[in-house]
Amino acid sequence: MKFAIVSKGDERSNKIKATMKQYLIDFNLEYCENEPDLVISVGGDGTFLEAFHRYVHRLKHTAFVGVHTGHLGFYADWIPDEVEKLIIEIAKTPYQVVEYPLLEVTIRSKTGGKEDRYLALNEATIKTADGSVVFDVEIKGEHFETFRGDGLCLSTPSGSTAYNKALGGGIIHPSLEAVQLTEMASINNRVFRTIGSPLILPKHHTCLLKPIVDRSFLIAVDHFTETYTNVKSIQCRVAKERVRFARFKPFPFWNRVRDSFVAEENNTRKKDSI
Ligand code: NAP
Repeated sequence: MKFAIVSKGDERSNKIKATMKQYLIDFNLEYCENEPDLVISVGGDGTFLEAFHRYVHRLKHTAFVGVHTGHLGFYADWIPDEVEKLIIEIAKTPYQVVEYPLLEVTIRSKTGGKEDRYLALNEATIKTADGSVVFDVEIKGEHFETFRGDGLCLSTPSGSTAYNKALGGGIIHPSLEAVQLTEMASINNRVFRTIGSPLILPKHHTCLLKPIVDRSFLIAVDHFTETYTNVKSIQCRVAKERVRFARFKPFPFWNRVRDSFVAEENNTRKKDSI
């Protein structure tokens, strides 16, 4: 089996990367950055996003696993103390693979030409540095609303705990093939009226955003942002592709949600009641 390791780049992550690389080579696994079967990310969820996008062209062949060197992550869910155990599990291949849905974003230009297509592991956000965005929002080919406000966020189920959560979106279990549309500060008055609630779209429902006011748009896909002008439409839907996680231990999604957002408080409450 071929593996690659993507490190956050700090001293601790680099040290863990070097140790894992050496041990896995000693177990007769091949280090290969071009065509890895397994990519190990060492850092945080941000590092995991980078690793995902570095190998997004070979999702069918590559599985991912994350070690966190900061706080518990949603993707980076192994702690540095468990690294030895993880190395032994990896060396024992084959491993179990769990697949999560992705978001597909297609940006079309008014000037025609090639459209830009991206896959997001967390989300895509559309904003402008230039006042408000004004979009006609179509769902499954029908006009749904005209949105005016700071921007819109379309997230995957595994990204629902990231930016989406900060916008008041719901947390979606990644076994559900869906994308979620959340608003950023919509303007609601007699002219503009939006639903206000997050919308959860199933796999066969496409969301199309058509700018009404021509602006320069800041379109972010996970951790990188591009500026677009002359945008005709931005199409978002559940992607055909899926991300594959190598699973070496059970760590159910709701346990990760609890441990990341509520466990501390529960522990404090337990301590208070003693
Ligand atoms: P960043 O601004 O340096 O970090 C954003 C934070 O989001 C980090 O703490 C990161 O965890 C965490 N995160 C990433 N994916 C997550 C997930 N699926 N569930 C829960 N938390 C998650 O940016 P970055 O490291 O380049 O990551 C880009 C991501 O930042 C975007 O995809 C977006 O979701 C998120 N973001 C969030 C907000 C917000 O909540 N208001 C605003 C902008 C962007 P680690 O510390 O483990 O890396």
